[in-house]
Amino acid sequence: MAAVATPDDAVPGPDALTARELYRFFRAGEEETLALRGVSLRVRRGETVAVIGPSGSGKSTLLACLAGLDEPAGGDVHVGGERISHRPEALRARIRARRVGILLQSGNLIAHLDVTANIRLARRAARSTGPADAGVLLDQVGIRGRARALPQELSGGELARAGLAVALANDPDVLLADEPTGELDGATEREILRLLRGRAESGCGVLIVTHSPEAVKIADRVIALRDGRIQR
Ligand code: ADP
Ligand code: MG
Repeated sequence: MAAVATPDDAVPGPDALTARELYRFFRAGEEETLALRGVSLRVRRGETVAVIGPSGSGKSTLLACLAGLDEPAGGDVHVGGERISHRPEALRARIRARRVGILLQSGNLIAHLDVTANIRLARRAARSTGPADAGVLLDQVGIRGRARALPQELSGGELARAGLAVALANDPDVLLADEPTGELDGATEREILRLLRGRAESGCGVLIVTHSPEAVKIADRVIALRDGRIQR
């Protein structure tokens, strides 16, 4: 049967990330919070997707499920064609280390390790075999000169760049960012967004949870969450 090619079908290879019908509940005593109620989405390679929504709409819960840091009660998540949900914790951690880059607003670096050691640690977690070419990564994010600095010695902008270098240490299929520019000045924010977008253009899928109009502006697509559901 001849199928009509849609732009979706035209993209070769597996999606960077696919989530199907994710459900996640939290129970505290008598009270149950329905944090995710059937969320499905995909991020293609080369694509930058922004996820927006009011506080409490489920954005961070979604990101944790996509990264395999949390398990959805229902539904499944694939990264780079490999299922990460409903796996033993250790296996999820291994898949995450190899395929997922995570960038948070803060806390991306281990405090007592310098920038290079942080990158090496991320590479070891993924059992990455190649040379630890931290210098190339640091060049890409523009802080080669800070290779031996401890996190506490970095400015806010440098910290964000170093966090991005760690997130990219294993050349992930998908980069997941939760409010990555929430604490940055305008110029630094634009630079980090430019780097994220550039990474997508070289074949990674990028998903950014954000409140920032700047981040929404650079996205190819925007997904709005409300009460644990995607709004159409
Ligand atoms: P957002 O990131 O959009 O602000 P969250 O994903 O953090 O939203 O939270 C979605 C809902 O789930 C909120 O009502 C929140 O209170 C609840 N929630 C999130 N994590 C937990 C948890 N560990 N225990 C109980 N409730 C939680
Ligand atoms: Mg949140």
